[in-house]
Amino acid sequence: MTGSTTTVPCQYRTGKTLGSGTYAIVKEAVHIKSGEYYACKVINKKLMQGREYMIRNEINVLKRVSKGHPNIVTLKDYFETAHNLYLVFDLCTGGELFDRICAKGNYYEADAAALVRTVMQAVRYLHDCGIVHRDLKPENLLFRTPAEEADIMIADFGLSRILEEEKLQLLTEICGTPGYMAPEIFKKTGHGKPVDVWAMGVVTYFLLCGYTPFDRENQDQEMQAIIAGDYKFEPVEYWANVSQTAKDFVTECLTIDPQNRPTAEQCLQHRWLRDSGKHWVESA
Ligand code: ADP
Ligand code: MG
Repeated sequence: MTGSTTTVPCQYRTGKTLGSGTYAIVKEAVHIKSGEYYACKVINKKLMQGREYMIRNEINVLKRVSKGHPNIVTLKDYFETAHNLYLVFDLCTGGELFDRICAKGNYYEADAAALVRTVMQAVRYLHDCGIVHRDLKPENLLFRTPAEEADIMIADFGLSRILEEEKLQLLTEICGTPGYMAPEIFKKTGHGKPVDVWAMGVVTYFLLCGYTPFDRENQDQEMQAIIAGDYKFEPVEYWANVSQTAKDFVTECLTIDPQNRPTAEQCLQHRWLRDSGKHWVESA
């Protein structure tokens, strides 16, 4: 890893835009010497306005987790110029989970369970490292290649924090995307690891039916619905082919009280994930 703040990013040539988020544009980049393709996250420092700590935090998080898990996007390199910050990642050419859900309408239950299991294992790894992702959603889950059975990768640690041991449960600023945010974030009663499990519940719901559980007319209503845990497995025609075990899994992830919500490890022990790939064969 280069990591020097004075390095000029002339070793790469940037190409087409792959995506963009709140602070960053992500471009395809070729490493000139090797001809290898990467994804380069370009962050304009002006947009950050004193929030560079968010990015330096992202670098620290990525440094720690980079090579540790096969389903987490690896940070290869980074540098800063006067105006921009550049983070070079392994390129995921398979697009966002979000787009695959939109293209398919929804996922077959067995495929959904396999995906959720893989992502949950990566979440467990992050949590074991003391890291809360805090922005898990289909836009931040990328496929390594365009193949149907490609590996799914967790990306975008922009809003996560390296947890210091004593501060574990009490990070109380509002951040993230409303639709995937846990009730305790709005109630300002802290947001630790359980927020990721909640988000995985929302992602699973979305995978199974093609829409999100707390989608309302406006953000305030959405927030009230989240706080009240007000969602249903409806309209029924979208849920007719979904097993009770899957619904039960979602229900557990969407437990309002974070202390009663299962951990990532406990989620992996749930029958829906534990037996993933077995019991649908019987019913098929
Ligand atoms: P932000 O923090 O602004 O949301 P992300 O890291 O989520 O930035 O990147 C924004 C988008 O860029 C992603 O949703 C994805 O479409 C694309 N992207 C990010 N990283 C990669 C990557 N390694 N390979 C391919 N596309 C990527
Ligand atoms: Mg993002």
